[in-house]
Amino acid sequence: MRITIKRSDVDEMIRHALSERPDEACGLIAGRDPEDGTRVIEKVYLLTNTDHTNEHFSIDPKEQLKAVKDMRANGMVPLGNWHSHPETPSRPSEEDIRLANDSRASYLILSLENEDAPVLNAFCIEKKEDGKNVRKEELIVLEG
Ligand SMILES: [Zn+2]
Repeated sequence: MRITIKRSDVDEMIRHALSERPDEACGLIAGRDPEDGTRVIEKVYLLTNTDHTNEHFSIDPKEQLKAVKDMRANGMVPLGNWHSHPETPSRPSEEDIRLANDSRASYLILSLENEDAPVLNAFCIEKKEDGKNVRKEELIVLEG
């Protein structure tokens, strides 16, 4: 799976994630999901982490519902979610893997471990009979 995201959306996520520290920040991603294997993120939603910790997140359900309505109204489909890791690398934690329940979703993780150089990666977390399989997806940031 290849995923494209606009630089301006990445910048907004970073801004939001920095302002939410020390808690994890979170949100949803939406856009187009054509059958050719390239997903296009057209909108990033910055939502409230109701857990308010630096170890995990829960997206505010009311905000989530509102975001999904907004996606439908704008002809977009839900593509997955994103959250920040204020102090740890950009890869799914054991908790992230345990809670991932959508094999088709893209999970974006933004690491602020080095706040001067935030790292954003995308993952697919597939359920298998013998556990879960985590794969890194190809994330392309569109400049300009
Ligand atoms: Zn995480």
